[in-house]
Amino acid sequence: MDYSPSAKELSHFPFLKKAQDHIKKSFPPLDKLLKEEKGVFLTGLAVRRINQALASKKTIAAHFQHRDDEEIASYVLARIIISCIQDKQLYDRLTRYEAERAYYFLNAETGSESEKGWNENAVLDDEQNSRIANYIAAEFRIDLSRDRMPLADYVEIVSVLHEERFKLVNRRVQKGFVAIRKEELLELLRERIRVILRRDLPYRVPKTICQELAPVAESIKKGYQEQMLQQFGSIEENAFPPCMQALISALTAGTNLTHAGRFALTTFVHTVGMDVPAIAQLYSRSPDFDSEKTMYQVEHITGRGGSGTEYTAPACAAMRTTGLCVNRDQLCERVNHPLSYYKVKKKDTGKPGTKKGGVPPAKPT
Ligand code: SF4
Repeated sequence: MDYSPSAKELSHFPFLKKAQDHIKKSFPPLDKLLKEEKGVFLTGLAVRRINQALASKKTIAAHFQHRDDEEIASYVLARIIISCIQDKQLYDRLTRYEAERAYYFLNAETGSESEKGWNENAVLDDEQNSRIANYIAAEFRIDLSRDRMPLADYVEIVSVLHEERFKLVNRRVQKGFVAIRKEELLELLRERIRVILRRDLPYRVPKTICQELAPVAESIKKGYQEQMLQQFGSIEENAFPPCMQALISALTAGTNLTHAGRFALTTFVHTVGMDVPAIAQLYSRSPDFDSEKTMYQVEHITGRGGSGTEYTAPACAAMRTTGLCVNRDQLCERVNHPLSYYKVKKKDTGKPGTKKGGVPPAKPT
């Protein structure tokens, strides 16, 4: 494509390869930069970016206050900091935020009657797509001028989307292509961006850089954990999704869990706020309970065992693959993660007039 995005356009879509090429000459190498005042300033911008990604209410401003190269650098640094933290949930949150931002900027490019767009140089084609929109779409292999998409691409993109309209049964499929409405193309592009940005994380960051960034990484991690605990509040076993209920019932009934089952249950209960001794206690119901081994495994999974890596509970798609998605109920249709199920269910059971403990214990697997 014979088109070179402007610095301003690149700053709005900093994940583009051209954006990163653009800042290569603007700053010294990272190890040097981080020791300079400029590095401290850019790290601050990156931390703000991460905090935005983690905030429950996000505000995305189309008009930036900082220079274009600083905006791009803050994107790169945010991904480096997150890679040092090694928490899959943070990777997910940041990439979702970046994809949402891109979607917002694509829609806010030319503005509306009440608000000026951020790109005064936007040139639209006959389909009302701008050059930068077509450029990004081409990089992410989506053709904005077509009203259909190859079936394999479509299935990959929509696998995490739960709206009925995206389900294949609600689509016209012809000769290996799925019909797409024009207004849906940018939504699909947003999902594709998210998947690809997520796929590239974590970066392999040199230890010395992570050490330099350790204080900010630690404060982000701490803040996020506090946020999670506040969000989930006290542990409400009755709001556990059927899959987790089934795993606990299986334990209680004296069944040995598979490795995948142990992993899913441990990561889930850890995220909703159960501490290591309480998790080990849960496993004491298992017939092959070995206190030392259990503590080791639990500490490893929850990031206390020296590796520093905290694992995340598997999403529903992964649970299905390992055969752990059982006893699905109506709420399962609306979520794609056991933790989302828990959040919604807990909120519902907390509503006045709702009986607590409405979920009957599931049968062992
Ligand atoms: S759909 Fe998700 S939340 Fe529901 S049982 Fe399956 S894995 Fe658990």
